[in-house]
Amino acid sequence: MTSLAYAVHVSPMQPLASAALPPRPDSGPMLWSPLSTTIVYGPREAVLVDPGLTTEQGAAVAKWAAGFGRTITGIYVTHAHGDHWYATGPVREQFPDVQVWATAETVAEMARTTPGGQPNPFWTAAFPGLIGDTPLIAQAVPEDGLEVDGQSLVPHAAGHTDTEHTTFLHVPSLDLVVSGDVIYNQVHQYLSEAGEHGIQSWLRAIDAVAAINPTTVVAGHKNPDRGDQASIIGDTRDYLHAAAEAFAEATSRREYFETMVRRFPAWLNPGIAWLTAVGRWAE
Ligand SMILES: [Zn+2]
Repeated sequence: MTSLAYAVHVSPMQPLASAALPPRPDSGPMLWSPLSTTIVYGPREAVLVDPGLTTEQGAAVAKWAAGFGRTITGIYVTHAHGDHWYATGPVREQFPDVQVWATAETVAEMARTTPGGQPNPFWTAAFPGLIGDTPLIAQAVPEDGLEVDGQSLVPHAAGHTDTEHTTFLHVPSLDLVVSGDVIYNQVHQYLSEAGEHGIQSWLRAIDAVAAINPTTVVAGHKNPDRGDQASIIGDTRDYLHAAAEAFAEATSRREYFETMVRRFPAWLNPGIAWLTAVGRWAE
């Protein structure tokens, strides 16, 4: 049987424009989290997952992917958030023949959040001049699924996690889950869109990953110094339980932010806890 392999490219943290958000209470930097792009490859073919956000990130991903010397047949997008797919254009400049796939529900969500093929205003305010046009070229995953050199890659709908209609990609022959934002790897988790029931939905999605019992989980946002061990499934769950408590008890942005930073001191990018707080409390 043909065996597959995988590798991960992590786009580094990226500063947000200072006008995009109120300053952090501890005066720390506002950064976007490190973003994982995964390549799953066989002897001849490869598929990329989540090509990144900025034009520069996409060019770096394309250069990295070309180094594997495989035919890149497609790009799979795990969910509609722009940080995971707006760099599709620069990647396709290097690989013009690639298909772009997402689940039908995710494609609809991508269309809803990029009217007219323009990036959502949140992203252009946060990263002015750094993001190209975002024409929607993703198609629904074909009914017979995705393959690399005859080995299957299986998308799983995960519902609401850090946004609507998210998914993760299971690669059975590698015992691998490429999790998108269903699982994080010790990076503060984005919960601005959680509403009343978002955390419960996200916990169910985590259970769905755990039920597969993967050996390896590549998180959409990972600390680049850490490996891809499956213990991050439990870490992501712990963070959500803590966030649910903080949502119930905190009375201000600042209180939520300080609680989460105190409880998860080793996790990267507290700025995302602040982004969550700003989305959740008026002040
Ligand atoms: Zn993300």
